[in-house]
Amino acid sequence: MTQLAETGFDALRAALEGTVLAPGEDGYDEARRLWNSEHNRLPAVITQVRSAADVQVAVRYAVAEGLEIAVRGGAHSPHGLASVDGGLMIDLSRMNQVTVDPETRRARAGGGALLGDLDAAAQEHGLAVPVGMVSHTGIGGLTLGGGIGFLTRMHGLSIDNLASVQIVTADGSIMRAAEDENPDLFWAVRGGGGNFGVVTEFEFRLHRVGPIVHYGMAFWSLEQGAEMLRAARELIPALPREVNVVIVCVNAPPAPFVPAEHHFKPGYALVVVGFGSPEQHAEAMTQVRGLLPPLFEFATPMPYVAVQQLIDEPNAWGSYHYEKGAYLEELSDGAIEVITEHFPRKTAPLSVTILYHLDTGYLETADDATAFGGQRSERYVLFAIATTPTLDALEAERAWTRTFWDALQPYTPDIGSYVNGLYEADEARLRASYGDKFDRLVAIKRKYDPDNVFRRNQNIKP
Ligand code: FAD
Repeated sequence: MTQLAETGFDALRAALEGTVLAPGEDGYDEARRLWNSEHNRLPAVITQVRSAADVQVAVRYAVAEGLEIAVRGGAHSPHGLASVDGGLMIDLSRMNQVTVDPETRRARAGGGALLGDLDAAAQEHGLAVPVGMVSHTGIGGLTLGGGIGFLTRMHGLSIDNLASVQIVTADGSIMRAAEDENPDLFWAVRGGGGNFGVVTEFEFRLHRVGPIVHYGMAFWSLEQGAEMLRAARELIPALPREVNVVIVCVNAPPAPFVPAEHHFKPGYALVVVGFGSPEQHAEAMTQVRGLLPPLFEFATPMPYVAVQQLIDEPNAWGSYHYEKGAYLEELSDGAIEVITEHFPRKTAPLSVTILYHLDTGYLETADDATAFGGQRSERYVLFAIATTPTLDALEAERAWTRTFWDALQPYTPDIGSYVNGLYEADEARLRASYGDKFDRLVAIKRKYDPDNVFRRNQNIKP
């Protein structure tokens, strides 16, 4: 490695199977782009790695050269953590292979795979694992922070279905972590983010899902919001576990099933995804309709992979973002008042507020079994997400998000949140998110990364 350090990028190029990009070179600008256009970072070097051995070379090179490391999975961290000014970016996007063994119901996904890569490969065999709701998000960041999606009610978080990881640690070791091998590291990567190394492969346990599932959506006006949410909070936990309802405060899309007079109007939607029988989903939709007559509704059988791509486009690359997340122990009258007062104050059409109800499958893994940043008690996780087409417009939306979040504080257990939704992850917020687990995470960080080589993440300082 000393030799690499002395001779610079040429030696790095020679040592890597993948590509090395320096400023000004073809492909550099494309490779450094991040999902959130707010962050325009200029790494000194980008390594487009192809293997764990490549990652090992890149980590050792960066350490020897004193370059700060950024690890890029799907590049969706809203805070732009996947890149770094003047440092070395380890771009995992070429490591996106997914292999599925239908016999053992296991999938192995490269550290740079996207949700869509994993969904597509697993669904070829009628299998799936809980991941998030936008298919161009990275498995890497999503899983390391927890991973919440439509299947969470059935089968828990992504990390609850993780069997092992291959990980390159700060000294360049390539290690395996699982319940029976380096269990402390395996505990820490299930929720502790990218603090402990670069995960080059995730091994998941899969479940039978679809391939056809049932999608439904009902939409109410701003004026109907509070009444609908008060009724929905009784219904959502009472539905069978195969039916997952996500609350989305959003502008109605100009979709064929939306009457023209409602196109682009803000309001409150319940998205109802059914993994059981058509009758079960139809019954759930009847109950949803019975809450309060919606302005419009829509229900159809749909391939699971299509459900997973439904909101890809409104979340496409190229916009400017800010977000704040909070846990709500219940959807109290007070919380509903705050939501229905603040959501309509957004100014950008694509800004949304999303509430996932965490229960059933989420509660079946013991709180201390993983490092997940959030108690395993029934709760909502709320995200207020600002999305604007220009940087100029972002400031007003950022202010909207912050004011909204401040107003929610009396209804949240503390300042902690799901770490994948923490934009400003200072130590107080991380401590509040991880609770009793924080000190254990610090001890494991000291063991595997005493010099804080991996710090462009929700950083747990050694
Ligand atoms: P990156 O920016 O590449 O990485 C995020 C962090 O993880 C960085 O610190 C990075 O260094 C680290 N990292 C990434 N890959 C690795 C790896 N292989 N090894 C080590 N460290 C790594 N979350 C949910 O739970 N459910 C959702 O439904 C959901 N929907 C989302 C939709 C959108 C449009 C967006 C932008 C985010 C969403 N999220 C969701 C949040 C998402 O989980 C986080 O933003 C996550 O960090 C994204 O991971 P990434 O790999 O794409 O991002």
